[in-house]
Amino acid sequence: MDILIFISSFLFVINFGFSQDRFTTQRKDMVRNQLKTRQIVDKATLNAMLAVPRHVFVPNNAQKHAYDDRPLSIGKGQTISQPYIVAFMTQELRLKPEHKVLEIGTGSGYQAAVLAEIVKEVFTIEIIESLGQIAKRRLEKLGYQNVKIRLGDGYHGWKEEAPFDAIIVTAGIKSIPEPLLDQLAEGGRMIIPAGPEAAMQLLLVTKINGKIKTKKRLPVRFVPFIRGKN
Ligand code: SAH
Repeated sequence: MDILIFISSFLFVINFGFSQDRFTTQRKDMVRNQLKTRQIVDKATLNAMLAVPRHVFVPNNAQKHAYDDRPLSIGKGQTISQPYIVAFMTQELRLKPEHKVLEIGTGSGYQAAVLAEIVKEVFTIEIIESLGQIAKRRLEKLGYQNVKIRLGDGYHGWKEEAPFDAIIVTAGIKSIPEPLLDQLAEGGRMIIPAGPEAAMQLLLVTKINGKIKTKKRLPVRFVPFIRGKN
């Protein structure tokens, strides 16, 4: 009996060890082939993409595709963005370790984890309760103590914690919510997929001397922003 337990735990250790290695290799390949070849050069972004175990953020049956060059379904009609898009948006924010960041659209929690690798504090809002709860447990389990999740309509931002050095919106919206512009710090940067669905663009928004500037950065497709009741 003892010997059986010994053998099975031995096999478990080997098996676990191999699967860890497989994902680590896939993650390194993802960074090399999908990010470095496409002008992702920011060291902090590349390190964060290397550090966060993306396969933990996707449903079990999609783990083998976690590091593919594409978005994946996470349930409730929502998706985790393609790795390149996550890295692009992160890089656009020019994050510093002391920054406080707001994310609208927690989803799986993957983008929040990438941000949490780089900055001091991440505040993230999710409108679909079940997704928010799963993401919260997942981030806790992975040890991200610098991420706070709130359930609700992110349109209104997170007033009590404003201003934010950076804001990232991960659902596509017609126009930029006014409360988010208000909650952006002086010198802050926001990246948001906005415009009509057929011609959506990632917009980079900056606030300099109180003046808002927007710049089109990349044509994209995103799941639609959902409006709450209030
Ligand atoms: N950043 C996520 C991907 C998000 S997909 C990740 O890394 O996995 C877009 C997410 O935005 C979905 O989870 C969707 O439920 C959420 N969302 C849509 N409208 C929202 C709103 N008004 N407030 C907060 N979250 C919203």
